[in-house]
Amino acid sequence: MACLYGVYLGVEADHGILVFNLVYLALAVVLIGLERTLPYEKAWLKPDGQTFANLAHTLLNKGAVQILVAVTAVLGLASAAEPQRQTWPSLWPADLPMVIQVGLGLLLAEFGLYWAHRLAHEWALLWRFHAVHHSVTRLWVVNTGRFHFVDTAVSVVFSQAILFAIGAPVIVLLWVSAFTAFVGILTHCNIEMRFGPLSYIFNTPELHRWHHSMVPDEGNTNYGENLMAFDQVFGTFFNPPRRPPVKIGIPGPMPADFLGQLGHPFRASGSQALPTVLAKDKSVAALTRSGDSGQG
Ligand SMILES: [Zn+2]
Ligand SMILES: [Zn+2]
Repeated sequence: MACLYGVYLGVEADHGILVFNLVYLALAVVLIGLERTLPYEKAWLKPDGQTFANLAHTLLNKGAVQILVAVTAVLGLASAAEPQRQTWPSLWPADLPMVIQVGLGLLLAEFGLYWAHRLAHEWALLWRFHAVHHSVTRLWVVNTGRFHFVDTAVSVVFSQAILFAIGAPVIVLLWVSAFTAFVGILTHCNIEMRFGPLSYIFNTPELHRWHHSMVPDEGNTNYGENLMAFDQVFGTFFNPPRRPPVKIGIPGPMPADFLGQLGHPFRASGSQALPTVLAKDKSVAALTRSGDSGQG
């Protein structure tokens, strides 16, 4: 909430994107400090040799998304300057207070994000790319942005296209992006934090740790990026009263280096067994379960 307030002040001062980047960096530094002092899982503090790859994926995604946002903003400004270009009437309730517009934007974007993420787990072609994110064996702030850029592009198109088509103003698109960035960095952090009833509404670290489980029945849940509304509606919400597994990752291979990971989904060897298919293979499920014996 404090970060969102900071961005609000930045937007008011006409330096929204600059202030967003500064606030995001400050939050990352605070969270990395808290991971050292208040870790959720001590085993996840050990280096996994993926820090460079994680940061390289993050920078590539951040660059690509900010270019996409800038292009959208330019297109938005162009259509505002020439309203006759708009071929269909805008359905967007632009007269409502901005807080309600952003809430509506989050909910509509979430519909796209939910299905993009669920498809990435159920469609072998998309899972090739999404497996890069799930191949990490520890969760911490630095692997928040570890997504193959094709994976990111699919979810950005799924979510932003809905808002764009319905005529949402650029400012709403920017607020949804800011909210998504802050929730994303929180859900991956390795900090002992409890969110209680908030986990029924928002995506939280507790829920997202289950999503990273190697056990297909546990990992193919909690697809929500920011809100859990569609997991509740479509029956994929998962929040049992026990500790999520320490041992996370994917059963298939993944190159250790950044360039190898970028190219992996395009190679024949890059095909990964789908998590849903694995659920039917009892031997694999048993294997991953026995690997979790260290959990509390
Ligand atoms: Zn996933
Ligand atoms: Zn994740």
